[in-house]
Amino acid sequence: MNRTEDKNRAEEKAGRPPPPQHKRLSGQLKAAAGRPETLFAGIPVSPGVAIGPVFGTSEPRTEITRQKIAAADIEGERARLENAIAQSRKQVAKLRGRLAVLPEESKEEIAPLLDGYLQMLSNSRLLRGARRRIADTLLSAESAVFEEAEAIAEAIAAQALPDTADDERASIGRRAEEVREIARRLVRNLTRQPFRSFAGLPDGAILVSEGLRPADAALLDPSRLAGVATEEGGAEGHTAVMLRALGVPAVLGAVGLAHAIEPGDLAVVDGASGTVALNPSPVRLAAARRAVTAFARERQKLARFRRLPAETLDGEAVELQANLELPVELPLIAQSGAQGIGLLRTEFLFMNREGVPDEDTQTESYRAVVEAMGGDPVTIRVLDWGGEKEIDALSSEGIVPEAADPNPALGLRGIRLLLRRVALFETQLAAILRAAAAGPVRVMLPMITNVAEVREARVIYERVARRLRRRGERLPEKLPPLGIMIETPGAALSSDALALEADFFAIGTNDLTAYTLAVDRAETELAELYDPMHPAVLRLVQFATEAALRMRMPVSVCGEIAANPRLTPLLLGLGVRSFSMNAGAVPRVKQAVRAVEIDTCARFARRVMEQSDPSAIRDLVMAFGRTTPD
Ligand code: PEP
Ligand code: MG
Repeated sequence: MNRTEDKNRAEEKAGRPPPPQHKRLSGQLKAAAGRPETLFAGIPVSPGVAIGPVFGTSEPRTEITRQKIAAADIEGERARLENAIAQSRKQVAKLRGRLAVLPEESKEEIAPLLDGYLQMLSNSRLLRGARRRIADTLLSAESAVFEEAEAIAEAIAAQALPDTADDERASIGRRAEEVREIARRLVRNLTRQPFRSFAGLPDGAILVSEGLRPADAALLDPSRLAGVATEEGGAEGHTAVMLRALGVPAVLGAVGLAHAIEPGDLAVVDGASGTVALNPSPVRLAAARRAVTAFARERQKLARFRRLPAETLDGEAVELQANLELPVELPLIAQSGAQGIGLLRTEFLFMNREGVPDEDTQTESYRAVVEAMGGDPVTIRVLDWGGEKEIDALSSEGIVPEAADPNPALGLRGIRLLLRRVALFETQLAAILRAAAAGPVRVMLPMITNVAEVREARVIYERVARRLRRRGERLPEKLPPLGIMIETPGAALSSDALALEADFFAIGTNDLTAYTLAVDRAETELAELYDPMHPAVLRLVQFATEAALRMRMPVSVCGEIAANPRLTPLLLGLGVRSFSMNAGAVPRVKQAVRAVEIDTCARFARRVMEQSDPSAIRDLVMAFGRTTPD
């Protein structure tokens, strides 16, 4: 990166409008000229408008080195292969299911392709050959798939003779590529390979892909990336959370997009409306440029809130903290005016690395964050493995099962894993306790559903502290508070009992919404059912908040609703005085806090809580401030 780019970036981060992009884009524009504008509708997950050349990544290239196995491992390799086949079939079937929302012509083009893939994943020469190679040639499952696919693809390609007509030659090429495509998917599922290293991603590009795993999103460099648009994913999935945290404009769930892009395409990603325009018309491009400038100006305007206190018109102090996933976000947090970190998601420290980080490595990471916060509190959540958050290091070290859980959201997630893999839990607790010598820290347990889990975790926590003291480690005299996430309906409904065991609550509305409404938070097709404003979710938030307040125990909201300034009055009215959110949202939420009185919010909340229809609640929330709320 050169000095000018460095400066531009610093200015952009400071809220000044970026230099116009016209120059950089004019070449791209020429390249894309001639292709018609195509619009895609998706789910807006991270605000801002991005304009840039498309960097398409449907599947990574998979290089496989030949791996031999012992005869005793044949059955194990076969089982791995069957697992990967089942997982691949599920992925393709999911894509197939989404075609319903596509325009007729795209559907006609893509459906036969996906049907062909499904067929190949049910019964094909590729699968039969790969199974045979495992047993006959003693190859690992991925080597067997790779070699069989290459053999088939070469045999297909050999059908093209010098006098073969061009369209027949193209069709032969496509068939060979389809076999390789399925093999790549199988190998990727077998190796749990991160999506890609993004090494070739040009500066200022828009990343377009079929899907993006949270671990892959964690590899993105927000200072080099203009925007992201994918076909899969939902508003509150961890990929969305990551992209918001990184401040990258993003639209997920834009069905058909990844298949439509061509080299040289230009795109506009509108992270507020959820649209992606491929090869935008001059009019749309001009509007997008105006939107980029307006967004930067708005950020600049909001920047003045950084130094103002977060208090309501009638003087009620409100705590606004930041959620942190990656150390790259620390400067953003410092600029946001957040008063500490209300949720440090430690999963990302475990991702994209060979092995599980040891106690010293973890201590260093946590200490760096605590020191960077300069005395502001840091709430460190212990590892919340499971759900969509795959961590390869845990499976490769045998800490979690290699085979995909058929229902990961309801399986060995969060605290459930830690209480069953005590060494992993103890190492993390020891690292957090050592980091606590550097500043105020709180420890938080994810996915709690009953009081026994909190009690058991506390016994381990205190044991680890005693052990560290015996070892001569300097720990704070009073152990850091041990609190819990309220993110399951079970926890919310037992929050009065849990309040007797925990030192604080943090309400995680992302999972709470998913578990209450039985909708996967990363689901595209049912995205409209995933509604944190559903009265059932709000009642659980209210119940848990009131239980905590009765015990005079700290309670915060750290799910994505905390970042939505439209919901700030409602949450204040329900009694919430502490919010944790992606750093970018802090100034806007502070603006919302400073614009209301607590009494008005309380009356408004009572009115909202009388409603039983989510759309009535939405209407009330949207109208707040425009009409008299009471
Ligand atoms: C939540 O579930 O609301 C939450 C904050 O945790 P995560 O998003 O990391 O699951
Ligand atoms: Mg959660």
